[in-house]
Amino acid sequence: MQLDVLIFGGGAAGLWCLDRFRRAGYHAILLEAKALGRGQTIQAQGIIHGGGKYGLRGVRDFSALRTTSAMPERWRRHLAGEIEPNLSGARLLSDRCHLWLPRGSSIAWAQSWGFVPLIAKAGLLATRPQKVRRADWPQALSGAALAVYALAEPVISTGSLLQALAARQQKFIFSYDAPAVRFAGAEVRIAGGVIEPRAVVLAAGEGNGGLLTHIDVNGDVMQRRPLGMVLLRGNLPPLFGHCVVGGKTQLTITAPADGIWQVGGEIAEQLASEENPERARQRAMAEIRRRLPGLELSRIEIAIYRAVRAEARTSNLRRPSGVHVSRVAPRTVVAWPTKLALIPVLADEVFDIVTMELRQPARYDATALPPWPTPPVARYPWEEAQWFPAR
Ligand SMILES: Cc1cc2nc3c(=O)[nH]c(=O)nc-3n(C[C@H](O)[C@H](O)[C@H](O)COP(=O)(O)OP(=O)(O)OC[C@H]3O[C@@H](n4cnc5c(N)ncnc54)[C@H](O)[C@@H]3O)c2cc1C
Repeated sequence: MQLDVLIFGGGAAGLWCLDRFRRAGYHAILLEAKALGRGQTIQAQGIIHGGGKYGLRGVRDFSALRTTSAMPERWRRHLAGEIEPNLSGARLLSDRCHLWLPRGSSIAWAQSWGFVPLIAKAGLLATRPQKVRRADWPQALSGAALAVYALAEPVISTGSLLQALAARQQKFIFSYDAPAVRFAGAEVRIAGGVIEPRAVVLAAGEGNGGLLTHIDVNGDVMQRRPLGMVLLRGNLPPLFGHCVVGGKTQLTITAPADGIWQVGGEIAEQLASEENPERARQRAMAEIRRRLPGLELSRIEIAIYRAVRAEARTSNLRRPSGVHVSRVAPRTVVAWPTKLALIPVLADEVFDIVTMELRQPARYDATALPPWPTPPVARYPWEEAQWFPAR
């Protein structure tokens, strides 16, 4: 079977790229190893960062800030159906995130000085933080905060995003036998068929490492940064926000479903190295109680899920400042978005690099498609987690 573009990986990055190529008339298909978004996208908190977080300790990474500052508005337009891809089917969980400076520690004021550069440099941000009047604070923060700011950074339901993207190109998305794939010259051999694509896009998140070794490119171009993410279940009010301590986001809390909290931020970095699950749960609860004193947390359940951020390798193993798209072999591109928020930028870059080489669509028979099934969307971490009473 001949086609213009073969995409590996059905997370939000691969699905967005598929849509980009197909809308421009290229015969493109996508191959998924397990379930759509099963790596990072389904585990993500869905915050469309606008750079506010990166400004917290004073702006050092200007290129990250410049790229991300336009993202909330761009996503808002996709979600409203004003620009393609029309993502009006995806669910907006919140149109803003809060930043709160926690009460309860005599050094909280001193620590919160890290926040000042954000305000001072707010001119750099498309989403300027607004101080929130005490009467308008989210219920969970009453009694917990010294000050609360609102950032116009939307939060989306990642499963609904995957559904909305996949629905646009359903006929061109396939499950395949990933371990059996072989790259041989211009051919990609897969159990049950041979595909001759003019270009290959590797957008398989952590799976890019293995795919790169299949095409004889050293998988060392990728880094994995682990997280121990916390889930709470029970009678919890909705909350979308970052608890700022010492200029860092110590807790990032989102409420993706009724009575569910997803907790990331620095705590998730710290829990990544905690191997004892009971101790990890205790540490998580101690931190959440400390930063949200007064919140009723009896009869709450807790779970911790392990996640890995797969990114392009940086010399100091820190987060790359933007998307990574590179041509690793003739007509072969590897891509990591670094952030869900940056996927529109990634898809534009992938499209530009690939079409520079391909130029026009080759006008292959677009009805020639593999006979393989359509993969399901991955399940949310809270649907698969093992829950424990929180102590
Ligand atoms: C816990 C967590 C929270 C996050 N929160 C946020 C946030 O709030 N905001 C934000 O902007 N970013 C966030 N991120 C980052 C964001 O989730 C990722 O940058 C983004 O989802 C990556 O998308 P992707 O499509 O490249 O990869 P993935 O979502 O990992 O998708 C890769 C896909 O490839 C498939 N695959 C794997 N191997 C193969 C193979 N060999 N062949 C074919 N398919 C394969 C997988 O099954 C999967 O479907 C978070 C990340 C994590 C881990």
